[in-house]
Amino acid sequence: MKVYLGLGTNIGSKKDNLTRAIDLLSLALGKCAALSQFIETAPWGFESSNTFLNCAAAFDTMLSPLELLSATQHIEREMGRTQKSHNGIYHDRIIDIDILLIEDTVIESGRLTVPHPLMHKRTFVLEPLCQIAPDAMHPAIGKSIRELLEELLENEPNITKG
Ligand code: ADP
Ligand code: MG
Repeated sequence: MKVYLGLGTNIGSKKDNLTRAIDLLSLALGKCAALSQFIETAPWGFESSNTFLNCAAAFDTMLSPLELLSATQHIEREMGRTQKSHNGIYHDRIIDIDILLIEDTVIESGRLTVPHPLMHKRTFVLEPLCQIAPDAMHPAIGKSIRELLEELLENEPNITKG
């Protein structure tokens, strides 16, 4: 099945971090079916002088949703990420891999919420995702990625772009 992931990094060699994560993900998940551009964005939800580099990627995978989460978290650790977010406090990170969409699956469990609960509020997620999947539907909201991005940009016209 097709899954869409959102990746972000704001320390070290950011382009290399994203490239390495995509390589490791294709080994663990299956073929990378689409990859957005890498876009530079301002930190969101915390203060840092380090800007982020974000991208979105589609993979064809046989893994179940929880196997997918284990695989992405394993790669985060393998790449040297030690700090998790706590109580909504964010930190600089070598790599963050978020599961955005798993076809039209809706999951709300302790470990995993899909679609990702904040994806429709974040331009740094929707912009790269819209490059590779403008017509993909958000199964809980019932709108396409293109529609969600247009709404977000209408509501926040002054957003800082990288
Ligand atoms: P954030 O991505 O918000 O910065 P973390 O990467 O530190 O936060 O992840 C915190 C927790 O979010 C993870 O331990 C994971 O179990 C949980 N989680 C729930 N839904 C998802 C999802 N769709 N993708 C990735 N992690 C998720
Ligand atoms: Mg994360």
